[in-house]
Amino acid sequence: MKKYDIVIIGSGLGGLQCGYILSKHGYKVGIFEKQPQFGGCLQVFYRKGYTFDTGMHYLGGLGEGEILRKLFDYYSITKDIKLQKLNTDCFDKIVIQDNEYPYAMGYQNFIETLSQYFPKEQEGIAAFVKAIQTIAHASPLYNLQEINNNIFIESDYIKKSVGEFITSFTKDPLLQNVLAGTNPLYAGFPEKTPVYVHALILHSYIKSSWRIIGGSHKIVDSLVNSIRSMGGDIFNNQEIIQINCNNEKAISIKTSVGELIEADFFISNIHPAKTLELIDSHLIRRAFRYRINNMENTTSNFTLYIAFKPNSVPYLNYNHYQYFGNSVWHTQDYTKEQWPKSFLYMQQSRSENEVYANSAQVVAFMNFEDVRLWEKTKVGKRGQDYLDFKEEKAQKLLDCLEKYYPKLRENIIFYETSTPLTYRDYTGSKDGSLYGILRDCHFPAQTLVSQRTKIGNLFLTGQNINAHGFLGVSIGSIITCAEFLGVNTIMNDIKTEL
Ligand SMILES: Cc1cc2nc3c(=O)[nH]c(=O)nc-3n(C[C@H](O)[C@H](O)[C@H](O)COP(=O)(O)OP(=O)(O)OC[C@H]3O[C@@H](n4cnc5c(N)ncnc54)[C@H](O)[C@@H]3O)c2cc1C
Repeated sequence: MKKYDIVIIGSGLGGLQCGYILSKHGYKVGIFEKQPQFGGCLQVFYRKGYTFDTGMHYLGGLGEGEILRKLFDYYSITKDIKLQKLNTDCFDKIVIQDNEYPYAMGYQNFIETLSQYFPKEQEGIAAFVKAIQTIAHASPLYNLQEINNNIFIESDYIKKSVGEFITSFTKDPLLQNVLAGTNPLYAGFPEKTPVYVHALILHSYIKSSWRIIGGSHKIVDSLVNSIRSMGGDIFNNQEIIQINCNNEKAISIKTSVGELIEADFFISNIHPAKTLELIDSHLIRRAFRYRINNMENTTSNFTLYIAFKPNSVPYLNYNHYQYFGNSVWHTQDYTKEQWPKSFLYMQQSRSENEVYANSAQVVAFMNFEDVRLWEKTKVGKRGQDYLDFKEEKAQKLLDCLEKYYPKLRENIIFYETSTPLTYRDYTGSKDGSLYGILRDCHFPAQTLVSQRTKIGNLFLTGQNINAHGFLGVSIGSIITCAEFLGVNTIMNDIKTEL
């Protein structure tokens, strides 16, 4: 029987990062991934010579000296990737009905650019920006500082809602919406989502925004190669169906083909509710199971992946956030006729000097209820009615897109689509949830999941334990690995790497 110091279930970003940190510190690590491809939300797919990102599309804070750059250096990723910096004066374009508002990079630039659209609101915009910076600096972990306790950010920022926060800077409802225009990056609600979620994400993107040239799988390839070169094992097509425990702790995992793998410690990179489904032990109390199973998750989405004819569609070095109504919030609440209330249109980059786009994604919120009819079906075998459903939604999205990019259809070679079922089946997230558990400022403790479980040698990592996105998951990986190494060892490691 194989035996490891540490077994990691799932090769999402969190699983790979934990594998990297712990291998670097001499642990014998084995990572088990159920899909043919590693990376979870960082997976790509290939069709007819085109590559499509399925999850992660753009990153913030990768400029020299910025936080993500430090992490990329620490994980030895920087040498393996090429970056495309998005347009400095408009990296995100927020379009509310037909009016466009650019987000510019750099705080002063952000203030000055938006103030041109809201000249009477310059002070409010500046105060908003200052508050975002204050919040971003209030978390030692997000600033890679040594810490003496486990508080990752002051409770004020956990208990205040993003809606309340934004409305405190301006009474102008349009500006309030513009300042919340990238909320699809966390699929939150104005009255529920803690302000730190909004602030930490916005902060990193205003600092600097980037695309990974060639796609997010470059990050995965880099991490997998590093883990293997440090002696770690990483296997694909290995679904874990059980975590076996004795009376005190976890002892082994079982794969879908019946193989047992022992370890001293276990880390699950999959959704906490899915992790508990693998455990049949009295060590997990019913109340804990109930709490985890009943946590609300962020919504899912429908994605249209477009392949363009060569040299036909001008490359946009920014992302287009579209809202059809006058509010950017609650676009995940819709009727069939209203769908989509919003979309996010992003092109992919293949070189630093793109002139024409090769491919793009259009992402629109979609709830699992819309596809529940097919919930018991498997990838590729969901039936003609499911294909018809996808085609209807694709045409609807293309109609929406053509309002802003006339005759786009003429330049499309082919397109593919994915639904909440695709996300559920390729990443294992609950109901295809985009970003995992939904945080609620009114119930902060109940909507945060600890890296520790009721089983002493089983830990959690990934987007559900701290926050989602590259930055959130990276901090989560540090928190999980701190259980083995101490947080300040890892912080020192990162500093030494600089
Ligand atoms: C559409 C979309 C767009 C996004 N865009 C961005 C972006 O632009 N920028 C950004 O920073 N973030 C973005 N994110 C968020 C970011 O991609 C995620 O937060 C992050 O990648 C999640 O990592 P994770 O470690 O939680 O693992 P996950 O990606 O959830 O991976 C979990 C892995 O576990 C595997 N697994 C599940 N069950 C089992 C099992 N039983 N046995 C073995 N393996 C199993 C899965 O196959 C998967 O590979 C986006 C996410 C989505 C979905």
